[in-house]
Amino acid sequence: MCFEINDKLKEECGVFGVIDLSGSINCSEITYYGLYSLQHRGQHSCGIASYLENKVNCYKNLGLVNEVFNQELLNNLNGNKAIGHVRYATSGEVSANDAQPLIVSNKKDQLVLAHNGHILNGTELKRRISKYKLKTSIDSEILGYLILNELEKGYTLEKSILNIMDFIDGAYSLVLMDNDRLIGVRDPLGMRPLCIGKLNDAYILSSESCALNAVGAKFIRDVDPGEIIIIDKTGIKSVKKEVNEGKRLCIFEFVYFAREDSKIDGMSVYKARENMGKELAKLYKIDADLVVGVPDSGIPAAISYANETGIPYGQGFVKNKYIGRTFIKSVQNERIKAVNIKLNPIKENIRGKRIILVDDSLVRGTTLKGIVKRLKKAGAKEVHVIISAPPIKFSCFYGIATSNTKELIASSKSIEYIRKYILADSLNFITIEALLKSVGKENNSGFCAACFDGKYPKLKNDSITLTKNLVNM
Ligand code: SF4
Repeated sequence: MCFEINDKLKEECGVFGVIDLSGSINCSEITYYGLYSLQHRGQHSCGIASYLENKVNCYKNLGLVNEVFNQELLNNLNGNKAIGHVRYATSGEVSANDAQPLIVSNKKDQLVLAHNGHILNGTELKRRISKYKLKTSIDSEILGYLILNELEKGYTLEKSILNIMDFIDGAYSLVLMDNDRLIGVRDPLGMRPLCIGKLNDAYILSSESCALNAVGAKFIRDVDPGEIIIIDKTGIKSVKKEVNEGKRLCIFEFVYFAREDSKIDGMSVYKARENMGKELAKLYKIDADLVVGVPDSGIPAAISYANETGIPYGQGFVKNKYIGRTFIKSVQNERIKAVNIKLNPIKENIRGKRIILVDDSLVRGTTLKGIVKRLKKAGAKEVHVIISAPPIKFSCFYGIATSNTKELIASSKSIEYIRKYILADSLNFITIEALLKSVGKENNSGFCAACFDGKYPKLKNDSITLTKNLVNM
């Protein structure tokens, strides 16, 4: 029996694409290393597709990037254009068939695409493309056929994508390719990140800048909300949608999803997490002996909280780097728990101390309860928990697996109830205002923070109601 070991919101996907204008490098290899660096965005499945001499080759499967691909496969995917995808399944099934990239085609055109995000009005959109037979259960395929449908009407690729932006509700950062071009698209709200890089004669599109660094590429800039980037042998071109509503980048990218060495829309993820610690220090003065962070994303906030308050920072746990995302539950020994295998408290640092434990977010509270319990068992006198995200009270409809409001403990329980449940001596959360300050904002303009404040981006389609029934679409 396997189960997920993280009690966290789950990011749904990472996308990466390369076009080499000199035609001298194997773009699939670059994509492999790009995906490796985006693995934190999705671990259920991954895939790479490439073009070589007008022919598309694609390989995808369930598993991590280094489990799915080997050198032989990458050699077979040799091409001067490639796109790749890592997926955490938030819509559709966890099956190799729903892995991406997807290839969609009609009699005239063929497109290969990889999508990060989630579409809200999939049912309505499917009606527009009812003449096509969908082969997967994921909304990303709908996007591909919507574009093909517009191409069939005689529009250019840019115009086709601009057209479909008018009637899609939801989040989408896309990388696409056809025989001649690599294309990047960011939805008009800019909910998911996408950036552009350059490596010698190759252009790269990536969900996060950390993947550009990993392959030795130079960061050029972020793709703007509503922007379409087209790269072919003549160079790079940008087309923009007139955007009425402002940007609504998912603030959770800074809380947990994105890697700390990434920069999104000009803001360093590490810096934002560090700022969260500073804001928490302004908000909560706690008498304690040691600050520890829950690895990995709780650590920058813990260090800066310690620096600001003068309470020493120390390593509270050793994290087992080799534990996978799923854990085989022992049928013989119920006491062997995933959290025990993943994080082991360092007793010598903990014993007899009043600990401040910093974590990035609290979803169900089950994992944190296990961690607090273990700290106390290791001899901690007190455990005070501070969380660098506000209480998560609302479901996400934009591709983040919050599954069901019922599973969000803060949606129905008081902070005091949660404190008792996780066995902590005190429990405090950052405020929405302080979180926004951490990412350089005085108000929530520019961000979606709906899982904290319930203020979802405005929908184009009035017939959609955001109810929990939509969550598992
Ligand atoms: Fe991100 Fe929360 Fe908005 Fe979903 S609801 S996009 S997780 S901020």
